[in-house]
Amino acid sequence: MARVINFYAGPAGLPLPALEKAQRELLDFNGAGMSVMEISHRAKEYDAVHSEAIALVKELLAVPDDFKILLIQGGGNLQFGMLPMNYLGDGRVADYIDTGNWAKKAYKEAKIVVGDAAKLAATTEAEQYARLPRPDEIRRTPGATYLHFCSNNTIEGTQWQAFPDGAGVPLACDMSSDIMWRPFDVRPFGIIYAGAQKNLGPSGVTVVIIRDDFLAQARVDKLTTYLRYAIHAEKNSLYNTPPCFGIYILRNVLEYNKSIGGLAEIERRNREKGRLLYGMIDRHPDFFRSTVSNQADRSFMNVTFRLPTEELDAKFVAEAKKAGMVGLKGYRTVGGIRVSTYNAVSVDDVKTLVSFMEEFLRTNG
Ligand SMILES: *Cc1c(COP(=O)(O)O)cnc(C)c1O
Repeated sequence: MARVINFYAGPAGLPLPALEKAQRELLDFNGAGMSVMEISHRAKEYDAVHSEAIALVKELLAVPDDFKILLIQGGGNLQFGMLPMNYLGDGRVADYIDTGNWAKKAYKEAKIVVGDAAKLAATTEAEQYARLPRPDEIRRTPGATYLHFCSNNTIEGTQWQAFPDGAGVPLACDMSSDIMWRPFDVRPFGIIYAGAQKNLGPSGVTVVIIRDDFLAQARVDKLTTYLRYAIHAEKNSLYNTPPCFGIYILRNVLEYNKSIGGLAEIERRNREKGRLLYGMIDRHPDFFRSTVSNQADRSFMNVTFRLPTEELDAKFVAEAKKAGMVGLKGYRTVGGIRVSTYNAVSVDDVKTLVSFMEEFLRTNG
């Protein structure tokens, strides 16, 4: 079996032990005589997986007891609409920070639902999102229900190394592409959501972490049942059939994350990966041209750069593929190169890529 080195941005690579466990258990899950896909979501065998996945999210992120962990379908995109549907309108407004494609989409989806109740607090679009806004550029609306931002801009390669200051307003965050890249303090957040397919598991599961006092402010009127956060909290994410197999893989990934030392060890590896890749870029900035203007905003999850010509970009992607490395092409609207170095990408994988970059520079630079 030949596994490639996977730098896809999402869906993305998963830790091999998590997949191997699924392979071993596929036909006969825990002696049930069937796969976990074939078991009722109300059965005790599935319930154990469901509870364990939720408990592991809680444990790995040290989520305090006054938060609920929900597992919802519909991806990050459903959350873009579900959040304002649950919270805004009837006089309630929220601030949005626009730092890239996904952050902007969250803002635009909110505007579809609630119009001007979604306020644009800051944007760096005029600079092609090459940096994050400075604190003094963020215009806050007094009395806002939440302050929304995207912790890691998957396409543009920027990441908030310190989160914006909520100043008492609950933070609402799209963490789809960097949740669990390191430990962080969950308490200032009213809500965090993350599609699993970047850093946690397969597509089809969205992890939502919501604070009880924030949950209590959500509306339930005029919302069909599935769209209410409250129903998922009340039913422990078993209101309807959950994505059982996706949750099972999520469980395997989190169990593996715990086994290697939890998020402290994962952060150490991610920082080492960043040091290796950015070290290479910074030694040859005229060839590996960073798309991020403020170094302090560079992402540890998606490293973006351009080569001197588009032809070289294409050649880089093609030759890397021949060398067993896939997924390096930049996002379709942006171009260039994007190296997604999520948790499942090892330090050795990045070393292999950096050696390839050295060789590519030697023959094409
Ligand atoms: C991939 C991504 C999304 C889109 O997620 P879907 O699950 O496909 O809806 C949203 N936000 C961020 C930050 C992403 O990286």
